[in-house]
Amino acid sequence: MSDIEKLAHFIDASQNIVFFTGAGISTESGIPDFRSPGGLWEKNRPIDFSEFIASEDARREAWRRKFNMERVMKGAEPNIGHKVIGELYSAGKVNAVVTQNIDGLHQLGGVADEDVIEIHGNGTYAKCLECHKKMSLDAVKKIFAVNETLPTCSQCGGIVKTATISFGQAMPEEEMRRAEMEAIESDLFIVAGSSLVVFPAANIPVIAAQHGAKLVIINREETPLDPYAELTINSEIGETLSGVTKM
Ligand code: NAD
Repeated sequence: MSDIEKLAHFIDASQNIVFFTGAGISTESGIPDFRSPGGLWEKNRPIDFSEFIASEDARREAWRRKFNMERVMKGAEPNIGHKVIGELYSAGKVNAVVTQNIDGLHQLGGVADEDVIEIHGNGTYAKCLECHKKMSLDAVKKIFAVNETLPTCSQCGGIVKTATISFGQAMPEEEMRRAEMEAIESDLFIVAGSSLVVFPAANIPVIAAQHGAKLVIINREETPLDPYAELTINSEIGETLSGVTKM
């Protein structure tokens, strides 16, 4: 039996499937990941949360990168991987998608917003770090366009940041709790496109495996969690998931 046949069989036999995705599921939509050759890390070292808070220069650099990246993200459409997940969700097979991505492509691929658990936040808006008041990216852009002025909260004067989770920033409690619950309740937990080296996110597949889910990892390269997996498929996500739908 081929790996794709095995995966199709696992999906057929499961009722509570959870997908766990990383930057790798969106590369086929033209959004670079972090760690692949040509990925974002080759160009820019990430700005961690303490640096963002401490330094106005770091904040300016973060907004510059954000607006550059936005050009790429804006034109991005869900690819075959997002769409197959959307179809399995519509068929009632997939309970939730836990994603480290901030690009909103699972929602565009057909998964209801409330069932996409964004553990690293959402890059489509900004918010105040003090009072959490939301601010649109367009509003930030207008302020920043005048001599790279940094946005501050209109309500409390606090620092405004994209609604994403940076390295060193606390994880969102409610999303992490929900992600862990979904992992515990799943019977099949499928990782697609994550290097699984970013913690605490990478603990979630371990929790699923420890609570009896079959763990499948689809990723171009090996990951440190491969020993926990019942099946690892080191190939392209689009080709793999579209192969499953043809079985
Ligand atoms: P990562 O860059 O560490 O790992 C991505 C993995 O996906 C790599 O191991 C790579 O080999 C694999 N991959 C890439 N394209 C693939 C494909 N088409 N088929 C199969 N495998 C493929 O990403 P990560 O694990 O998500 O962690 C990095 C962090 O960066 C995350 O927290 C995420 O929030 C953030 N990020 C998000 C986006 C996005 O929203 N699209 C983009 C870049 C980074």
